[in-house]
Amino acid sequence: HDKLVAGFRRTSEKLGGNIASLLTKERLDRATLDEIEEALIASDLGPATASRVRERLEEERYERDMDAAGVRAVVADEIARILAPVAKPLEIEAFPRPQVILVIGVNGSGKTTTIAKLAHLFQEQDYQVMLVAGDTFRAAAIGQLKTWAERINVPIITGKEGGDAASLVWEGVKRGTEIGTDVLIVDTAGRLQNKAGLMDELAKIRRVLGRLNPAAPHDVLLVLDATTGQNALSQIEVFGKETGVTGLVMTKLDGTARGGVLVAAAERFGLPIHAIGVGETLDDLRPFDPREVAALIAG
Ligand code: GDP
Repeated sequence: HDKLVAGFRRTSEKLGGNIASLLTKERLDRATLDEIEEALIASDLGPATASRVRERLEEERYERDMDAAGVRAVVADEIARILAPVAKPLEIEAFPRPQVILVIGVNGSGKTTTIAKLAHLFQEQDYQVMLVAGDTFRAAAIGQLKTWAERINVPIITGKEGGDAASLVWEGVKRGTEIGTDVLIVDTAGRLQNKAGLMDELAKIRRVLGRLNPAAPHDVLLVLDATTGQNALSQIEVFGKETGVTGLVMTKLDGTARGGVLVAAAERFGLPIHAIGVGETLDDLRPFDPREVAALIAG
């Protein structure tokens, strides 16, 4: 919990500071409402969230007195409403097993770390986990995932650099089924020669999986780096359309002032947000309580 609070501190300080500096007049007038709306957009909450908050303030407090705490309470309430329907932990429920989770996202977003954290989480829930090092484009990615697998003691399927990721996934499902794996987590490339190449590769992996089990992949998780702010939203747009993203994990919410992008993503896309990353260690992947996170962001 402390880490969560510390994680959102920079976001809430920025937002809270902005709001406090705007409320210099005795009554909430139109100019102040405009400024509050702009401050919310500048905090990465997105135009739709900002305008919802503005409408609420206008209905409830227009031409009446208002302090920063009052504004923040309305902000927290609106954020909680937006986050409530999307905050959904990832459930292991596929039958037959294994449940196949395809993890996608651009390099540097925290994909490898998130896979390790998820594997650790499922292990703690007594599931048998297996990893597939499907980012065959980067030798470093294979090595990094292998190191994590050894650390948390889960089996991993690896191939050669430049090898065919789809065949590796095929092998993963075969082996996973043989040894009774509950969850198969598949890493994928975050970048190939070009975007079309990357999308083709993901499509090919999906086709191969579908031949083994029409329900697979059961989950297509897009990992997003919160520190990239609005860029994270364009990634949902690009990957979402082409790869059938079923849910999001947002990482690096610790120590960024751009935590508001979590809300913008929820508001704009409505995709489940399965967990948030608030640090580099295995225990730093958290399911989240919408009310708690809303209160933390609003300060
Ligand atoms: P990938 O290229 O997408 O596989 O990204 P990595 O998993 O290698 O992560 C890139 C960097 O971000 C590494 O230094 C990670 O330790 C770090 N990282 C990943 N998730 C988080 C997080 O939630 N918080 C922080 N502070 N760092 C993270």
